[in-house]
Amino acid sequence: MLRQSVEYLDKGFSELPQFQEEDVAGMDAVLLEVAARMRDNYPYPHPIYAGQMLKPPHPLARLAYTLALWINPNNHALDGGRASSAMEKEAVAEIAQMFGWTTYLGHLCGGGTMANLEALWVANQTHPGKTIVASQQAHYTHRRLTGVLQVPFQEVPCDQAARMDMRQLESVLESGVVGTVIATMGTTATGSVDPLPALLDLQKTYGFRLHADAAYGGYFTLVENLRPDTQEAYENLHRVDSIAIDPHKHGLQPYGCGCIIFRDPGVGVWYEHASPYTYFTSESLHLGEISMECSRPGASAVALWATQRLLPLVRGGAFSSRLEKSRSAALRLAGNIRADARWLLAFEPELDVVIWAPRGINASEISRRSHAIFSAAALAGLHLAVASVPAALLESTWRDIVWDRGDVVCLRSCLMKPEHLDWVERIGHTLNKVADQVVAGEGTGHAGHLA
Ligand SMILES: *Cc1c(COP(=O)(O)O)cnc(C)c1O
Repeated sequence: MLRQSVEYLDKGFSELPQFQEEDVAGMDAVLLEVAARMRDNYPYPHPIYAGQMLKPPHPLARLAYTLALWINPNNHALDGGRASSAMEKEAVAEIAQMFGWTTYLGHLCGGGTMANLEALWVANQTHPGKTIVASQQAHYTHRRLTGVLQVPFQEVPCDQAARMDMRQLESVLESGVVGTVIATMGTTATGSVDPLPALLDLQKTYGFRLHADAAYGGYFTLVENLRPDTQEAYENLHRVDSIAIDPHKHGLQPYGCGCIIFRDPGVGVWYEHASPYTYFTSESLHLGEISMECSRPGASAVALWATQRLLPLVRGGAFSSRLEKSRSAALRLAGNIRADARWLLAFEPELDVVIWAPRGINASEISRRSHAIFSAAALAGLHLAVASVPAALLESTWRDIVWDRGDVVCLRSCLMKPEHLDWVERIGHTLNKVADQVVAGEGTGHAGHLA
């Protein structure tokens, strides 16, 4: 399939005079060496990898990316990639449309960090020097980014669902220093969605700018099996000022594909530059004029465009049904955990992330067991993640636990693959077996101390 497409692409340039390409001898051996090196990885594409936020790109995205590399376009400017720049604009228009925006300003970028950087940079242009706030469970990038921008930053405590606490936010807003609030639409740790309707109500009183960090959870706006409160948050997403979303998280893309979109195209004025390098071959605004990064892979745009062509970003389509399966997998795993005396569920999953822990008398014992189960599960071929959760978030949920430390280590699974739905029972079975081994081995120097 790839060969056929490459040949077809090549034909488009067949009238060029022949030239001698550089020698490519010796590649086979090195490529095999690369393959050998790459074996040293967790099996990310397989459903038994149910740990961190890792999801294999769609096969079409891989092929389209590779095909585009025959040209290796640079989406910094039209001179660097005419076709891929046009495809980027189309693909971003579809993402904006997914959020209900037909007028907007947006483009692709390296990832969620860059997307959020641009959003916060623009926020500081419209609200200069004002404080930017995000919840304590927001991605750590926001603290760093505000440091880079030299903008004051404040964290707002969370409620027991790991969402920004609205009363706490209001007391910060009363101080009058806040210019921008970041709503996380799906936290990286727990998949919690900040209460957007309440935030929008507060915005009426306090007039702040509202940025949605939907790097992880943005695509869940398409799914139909969310809780009503989560659903309502997504229904209001079109009312925010800017949205960061990562096609390389849930959008089936290889890494290096983030996206930032602004509701008001007028923010383009902040990007204005008078480059001495004249790229201007077209009257239309080109991507280099509205993005912070300069050189960017056109191949990313091509892969995204192709994926969205095959799997359009619509409700009730194949793409959204894949996400619904992930969500169902999380609900099923959470249900099994809740029903089993071995485990403690930490949060009702809002998206497809599940956080739970083995039972124990105190936070130290639970943490020790989580680590041991994490390691023993990996040996049994099940790959999870661990996450440290502040005691304040769980004290009212896990009432019989003695809090002998300020946090507790839990197990965490991002069930990002649709295939996870078919594997949930097996995952649960392995988990239970491993937990029994770990607890039985405690004090004997065996399974309990595998870590
Ligand atoms: C992943 C993530 C980021 C950072 O994005 P990168 O693509 O890793 O740079 C920011 N915010 C949230 C909520 C995320 O999940």
